[in-house]
Amino acid sequence: LMATPESLIAQQERPLYLDPNASVEDRVEDLLARMTLEEKIGQMSQLDISQINTTGLQADVFLDPEKARDMVVNNHVGSFLNGEAVPPQQWYEFMAELTRIAVEETRLGIPIIYGIDHVHGASYMAETTIFPQPINLGATFNTEHGYNMGWVTALEMADVGHHWNFAPTLDVGRNQIWGRLYETFGEDPLLTSRMGVAYLDGFHNNEEIAPYRLASNAKHFLAYSDPVSGWDKSPASLSMQEIYEMHLPPFRAAIEAGVMTIMANSSEVNGEPVHASALFLTEMLRKQLGFDGVVLTDWDEVGKLAGFHRMVPDYKEGTYRAVTAGIDVSMTPLSLNFNEALLELVQEGRISEERVDESVRRVLRLKFEIGLFENPFPRNDRLDRIGSEESRMKSLQAARESLVLLKNEDDVLPLQNPGRIVVAGPSANSKRNLSGGWTLAWQGGREEQYPDRMLTVYTGLQQAFPEAQIDLLETLPESREALMDFLAGAETIIYAGGEEPYAEFLGNILDLNLEASQKEDIRRLSESGIPLVTVLIQGRPRLITDVLDHMDALVHAGLPGFEGGEAIADVLSGNVNPSGRLPFTYPAFSGHMLNYNHKPSDIFFHHPDSQNPFEDPRPGTHLFEFGDGLSYTEFELSDLRLSAETLSGNDHLTASVTVTNTGDVAGSKPVLWFLSQTTGLVPRPVRELKHFERVTLEPGASQTLTFEIHPEESLWYPDASGNRVFEATKYFVRAGTLTQTFTYEP
Ligand code: BGC
Repeated sequence: LMATPESLIAQQERPLYLDPNASVEDRVEDLLARMTLEEKIGQMSQLDISQINTTGLQADVFLDPEKARDMVVNNHVGSFLNGEAVPPQQWYEFMAELTRIAVEETRLGIPIIYGIDHVHGASYMAETTIFPQPINLGATFNTEHGYNMGWVTALEMADVGHHWNFAPTLDVGRNQIWGRLYETFGEDPLLTSRMGVAYLDGFHNNEEIAPYRLASNAKHFLAYSDPVSGWDKSPASLSMQEIYEMHLPPFRAAIEAGVMTIMANSSEVNGEPVHASALFLTEMLRKQLGFDGVVLTDWDEVGKLAGFHRMVPDYKEGTYRAVTAGIDVSMTPLSLNFNEALLELVQEGRISEERVDESVRRVLRLKFEIGLFENPFPRNDRLDRIGSEESRMKSLQAARESLVLLKNEDDVLPLQNPGRIVVAGPSANSKRNLSGGWTLAWQGGREEQYPDRMLTVYTGLQQAFPEAQIDLLETLPESREALMDFLAGAETIIYAGGEEPYAEFLGNILDLNLEASQKEDIRRLSESGIPLVTVLIQGRPRLITDVLDHMDALVHAGLPGFEGGEAIADVLSGNVNPSGRLPFTYPAFSGHMLNYNHKPSDIFFHHPDSQNPFEDPRPGTHLFEFGDGLSYTEFELSDLRLSAETLSGNDHLTASVTVTNTGDVAGSKPVLWFLSQTTGLVPRPVRELKHFERVTLEPGASQTLTFEIHPEESLWYPDASGNRVFEATKYFVRAGTLTQTFTYEP
């Protein structure tokens, strides 16, 4: 088209910040210069959906345009969060109208950014693909599943206008009783880092969502996952060395992978709530890690500095502390308290407008970078991609590889042509228990909200064995006689127990033991003498030490998601050979819970002469170890070799090992490589995971795997200031039960 004078004039009048060809930095500065202080502060606040929907706190997804106008036009609020699992079309309508108000009715037309907890698939929307929880992804030791979960989540949230995902969770699950363990990839920093980066790669690089781009969020910075009491949002007390070594690496890796936003830890670490901590939010996150994206608070954390932590008398002082410490956006989320308090603080000169500008720049940069100004509106012309068969298969494959077979006496499993099976226990026919919290609703949905096509352990087995008689017994009859009558003639009993869904502090418990009633069920069922297979559907390792002998087989199923029923039936029937490995230590006793990479002195009665920590005779206090898991075939590791016995400077050496499938069926096995320093200036963990790789082999087949040991990657640890320490010492390399040694000279 030839340019007419009108369009030339229109172009000249178009402000620079609306020019998609201008640089992001120029657009940010142009827009910032046009904004009032109130408008700027609005970009630093995030409110809950209940402030703009028709029903308030029953957070349903129907926009109230008057409320929305009040928040967005009159109060300049730049972001919202939360919601519930309604179909994509309904979300689309909500977001289209909310966006229209922001873009067309505000003075500057700044689009809002909507945030949501789609933590295992787009789990706050109906009809989507629900993956296993992150703890199950950890158990696969296969980063492909992390990538797939990120990729599918992006695909299913982008079009409806969900711009900002509060995932991945990069807390390292070091505390087995903590109610958010299942949201982590397990207890190891390397496993968490690799899964987190894979998730981010899938989430950031999904080109099928074009023209949209999405904002990721790593949470919760830092050391959230190891509270002293085990209760959520309660204080952690950890050495800085341990924080640098065990908790920081996944965040560093995520920043390198381009994570755009970070949510702060809502609890207290070493005496200071993180939301008031310049040490964590400015010194570590900004200066040491060089993160320049948006730092978001967790839910009402500014307010909690007053009411919950009792640090300051009121909201305003909480705002002062949090902004001074380094937050950019406050998830306020049920009032305009933050906006009002910050305005007063700036007017009084206690916080400078330059400080506000710093945060607003970051928010605007984020909005420009994800293309919100060019493509603010959602679209509904391709919503049929949501919940596709292809995506469902990705979730199913992840679920299958995540199931951990821990015991299989006399090869009870897989079930062979059964005539009659009894499927017992509270999770035998439950859909909601398979997926855990943050699924359809904060504390998990109601049973009837789960899709009709979704299978349970019971219906999964019906599908796997169409010829067999499968009987359901969710609650055991009280009388022994009635129970034995029911069981008579069954060849196998499958007991499905574990936990019901929970999220955050509602997952706080007083005792990690499996519920007494379930242990009693297991004892009573085992009295029948019929082979008993226990399947634990649980977000954390509920203790079973005193009933393990009653189980002939045990599958730790974790929280395998919507395809979990099918995946469990696949493993029980032998359609799938189990290959998951524990991503955490399964404790035997609540009085002594360690992680696999604990300190030598954690177990006191050690053998003083032992040099080799892998041959160290001190017994553990766990029931199962990190990395444990059986299969229906046998894998033998042999020929562990090192390319050299010494390593110096920046050279590297190669470790190799041969894996052979010595059994009768094809199978897959994650091979875990550990290193162990024999001495250290500070006591070093007894062993550390440094590499892992999954291998799939036909019966009789072998493959040689390698692990390249680079000092820059694997032979240093952080000191208490985060500096890297390279030490001259002897190392043990371990794969399976094989070990070799080399010496390292930095
Ligand atoms: C949780 C976060 C979550 C946020 C928004 C908080 O209470 O700790 O993980 O992203 O709520 O739902």
